[in-house]
Amino acid sequence: ASYDLAALDALLGDVPVIRDPILIRRRSRDFFWYSPILAEQLKEVSADIVVKPRNEADVVRTVAACAKLRIPVTARAGGTGNYGQAMPLAGGVLLDMTDMTGVIWQKPGSVRVRAGTNILALDQEIRPNGFELRMHPSTKRTATIGGFVAGGSGGVGSVAYGGLREPGNILAARIVTIEEEPRMLELRQDAAQKVNRAYGTTGIITELEMPTAPAWPWIDVVVAFDSFAEAFRAGRDVAHADGVVKKLVTPIAWPIPSQFSALKDACPEGKSILVCMIAEPFLDSFRTILGGRGQETYASPSREEPTETPLYEYAWNHTTLQWLKTDRSVTYLQLLYPQDRLEESVMEMAALFEGEVLPHLEFIRFAGRITCSALPIVRYTTAERLFEIIRMHEERGVMVANPHVYGLEGGSRHKRAEADQLGFKAEVDPMGLLNPGKMESYVPVR
Ligand code: FAD
Repeated sequence: ASYDLAALDALLGDVPVIRDPILIRRRSRDFFWYSPILAEQLKEVSADIVVKPRNEADVVRTVAACAKLRIPVTARAGGTGNYGQAMPLAGGVLLDMTDMTGVIWQKPGSVRVRAGTNILALDQEIRPNGFELRMHPSTKRTATIGGFVAGGSGGVGSVAYGGLREPGNILAARIVTIEEEPRMLELRQDAAQKVNRAYGTTGIITELEMPTAPAWPWIDVVVAFDSFAEAFRAGRDVAHADGVVKKLVTPIAWPIPSQFSALKDACPEGKSILVCMIAEPFLDSFRTILGGRGQETYASPSREEPTETPLYEYAWNHTTLQWLKTDRSVTYLQLLYPQDRLEESVMEMAALFEGEVLPHLEFIRFAGRITCSALPIVRYTTAERLFEIIRMHEERGVMVANPHVYGLEGGSRHKRAEADQLGFKAEVDPMGLLNPGKMESYVPVR
């Protein structure tokens, strides 16, 4: 498509832009290459211009111009999303949100923040007052809070609080609609879910109100086990212990730890590991639960300084990245195991795909119950085989949020673009200009 960029320029006034084609191309990418299928499909995607709003007035000016000129707008923040979430399939404007930063206010239990704020910076600003975010993605050091809400699902902390979809985990979102006369809307409580994991198709988020939790001194722990089943069971017992304050409970099957070069000393040859973050006062209780099972190979206060890799960067979708650093022949899946027969299902799939789908689980709360999500490593052969593996999981009651498709609907079969997000889109983006191609079931009204 070709857009009237000269007219856009005139309407943007002094709003900062990037016109260097190399920079535009670089910003137009995310971690889509995790998927060999998307790596091929999306490799040519690029915006026509990057706009870098300094504040909400700049966002309003930009989207008003784009509405008038019918130019698509795709929000982009840290660019750590997978499956091309922030990639502008129809070109147009890439709206780089990373200059819209800062805490607006904080009080015990909640914080109001601009959407482009880096998540580590946010936590560092609230921690002196004794609070921290309830959960963060493993990309905390590079991602933004707005990108997490618009593109993510949960992460470190979800073993205690569940995912972003759980009531109470997003308190409010302020958005800008894309119309010739944009409106600012404050979405509170359930209404805020209209922008959660909608990939920026239902409004540009300018501010968020997030719940916070008491900040603990966290201890990173690695325990090694002879078998994956033992690592799983120990993790399950820790996850179920409500008295033990924890943020991460992650069983990882050998040979995945063989790829953790910087953590080599904690990953003995042939052993599956359990990676945990435990609040310091409960470390003894944690060890009591393990009851001598496994071998503790690492225990140290959590660190997030720029020079050190936090332990959580071996968990969630960083587990996959650790492997991809040296070997691009693998890929991954995103699974949710059935809560009512968790162990049976986990072990069934581990045996069914032995050597091909390597187990990596994340204990989480889901609707109040402990279960496992998973980001297993897949030794990739062909697209046909990958889709067969997905089907075989679904046939056996394991839900798959397919990370090898870019659309919202195809990506999370178990929770399609929900009716309220679809209906809401007609209100806030009637022309379908926000991140076109991602909410495929939306038909623009003109
Ligand atoms: P981007 O990638 O820039 O954007 C993500 C999506 O949000 C895009 O669709 C974009 O259009 C939209 N968006 C961004 N800002 C706005 C805004 N202000 N208004 C409207 N829409 C907006 N995800 C998890 O949930 N948990 C994890 O533990 C996790 N671990 C990861 C580990 C690795 C190594 C990688 C590569 C990814 C991981 N992810 C995880 C996915 C991703 O990191 C998270 O979704 C992250 O929070 C995205 O933030 P970002 O600032 O990089 O957003």
